[in-house]
Amino acid sequence: MQLYNSLTHKKAPFVTHTPGRVEMYTCGPTVYHFAHIGNLRSYIMEDVLEKFLRYEGYDVNRVMNITDVGHLASDADTGEDKMLKGARREHKTVMEIAQFYTDAFFEDCCRLNIKTPDVVQPATGCIDEYIKIVSGLLDKGYAYQAGGNVYFDSSKLQKYYVFNDHNEEDLAVGVREGVEEDSNKRNKNDFVLWFTKSKFEDQALKWDSPWGVGYPGWHIECSGISLKYNGEYLDLHCGGVDNAFPHHTNEIAQSESYIGHPWCQQWFHVHHLNTNSGKMSKSKGEFLTVSLLEEKGYDPLSYRFFCLQSHYRKALVFSWENLDNAQGAYQKLIARIAALQEDGSPADEAVRQKYRETFLAQVGNDLNTSMGITLLYDVLKAKTSDTTKLAVLGDFDGVLSLSLLEKAAAQRAKVAAAKAAAQTSGGYTVTGEGDAAIDARVLARGEAKKAKNFAEADRIRDELKAQGIEITDVPGGAVWKRV
Ligand code: AMP
Ligand code: ZN
Repeated sequence: MQLYNSLTHKKAPFVTHTPGRVEMYTCGPTVYHFAHIGNLRSYIMEDVLEKFLRYEGYDVNRVMNITDVGHLASDADTGEDKMLKGARREHKTVMEIAQFYTDAFFEDCCRLNIKTPDVVQPATGCIDEYIKIVSGLLDKGYAYQAGGNVYFDSSKLQKYYVFNDHNEEDLAVGVREGVEEDSNKRNKNDFVLWFTKSKFEDQALKWDSPWGVGYPGWHIECSGISLKYNGEYLDLHCGGVDNAFPHHTNEIAQSESYIGHPWCQQWFHVHHLNTNSGKMSKSKGEFLTVSLLEEKGYDPLSYRFFCLQSHYRKALVFSWENLDNAQGAYQKLIARIAALQEDGSPADEAVRQKYRETFLAQVGNDLNTSMGITLLYDVLKAKTSDTTKLAVLGDFDGVLSLSLLEKAAAQRAKVAAAKAAAQTSGGYTVTGEGDAAIDARVLARGEAKKAKNFAEADRIRDELKAQGIEITDVPGGAVWKRV
């Protein structure tokens, strides 16, 4: 595939260190709160990328951390630990908070058809790994101790700003975030590898280390976990665009200094989901969750459909109107697929192969998921059998994961059940959604009409309308549905 690489600022053919195998790493959630639908936009797009690479035939090893320690309120190593903040908010221990929100994250992923990575590693489970790397960095002269903490010395690098389409002044973290700089730092870009004695003395989770009891910085966890499970040659690193600096910049600095050679060749950054008032953010406290969408009557897969309609390198603006439009389009798509009938003949393999190639070329152009959606409609319009169409749609859905065939089958079954449950009386047939009490009321309305008691017939129609039931008269009876 052709993929944009934030490191080179170019779209180029995707290549891997070992042919046929992708070592892929994803920055996981900070589990001090529910993931918001912005975070989940990043995970949806990364999920499609992984599935696309598998569809191309790669063997993918995808690794993800769970940040359950060390991520401070400011990316500049200041402020309080986000996990402690969550624990205090809910009067629970840090580990209780971590478990609860990790479970909630994977439940959300499941509702959005996001596959669980091959390896999921909580940061607290790899402390020895970080200690090994920090020791190595100190031995090689890339780190120093000050004020009880261990810092990475950014002045030892020839190039620190690797994603360098930025202005250095804008990136000075203290200035950017309006927070006080840490006076222990020798250079403005130095960052903490290991905290010991510091202002975070009430940190709940602490471990012994050669530098005293303490805990790891946020960036070291991703380097440690990736080096452990992906090895020294990482092919693809993913995250939201806000992670590029300082988090990914610092990951590269410490990983390459430690291993002594280039680490990850390709960086994939998903742009933000914004609301009219700016970036959706957990720390602002006001954000939308998958559960909230469900409570409001949205199918989580309508949100996935909404995300796939736009390109991952463009900011996406969320509004209820936009989501309504996506849900409407998604439901219509399912209805069209439900209308296809398997005819018992085999799928046309040549047609299937032709579509497979088109999908690989079009979606493979920098993960153009909206082209993938367009192709679904092209298949529906194609001059081929319904069986072939269903087979092709199933192939594409292996990457898009919109549950197209499952939802269409459920809709067919619902219609069939309703037909089977049709009620007939005196030659008047009522077809609905399988609710005997409503069938009876619609039959009563039919009888009232036959008896020319139109006032009673209208009264029953209004009564059912108030319950969200719509009646349509058809020859020989009536059909009802919930609207
Ligand atoms: P966090 O749980 O804050 O560590 O973030 C988890 C992931 O979501 C990271 O890859 C972030 O870069 C990403 N992210 C955060 N906010 C947004 C947003 N509004 N839209 C898309 N991705 C986001
Ligand atoms: Zn990370």
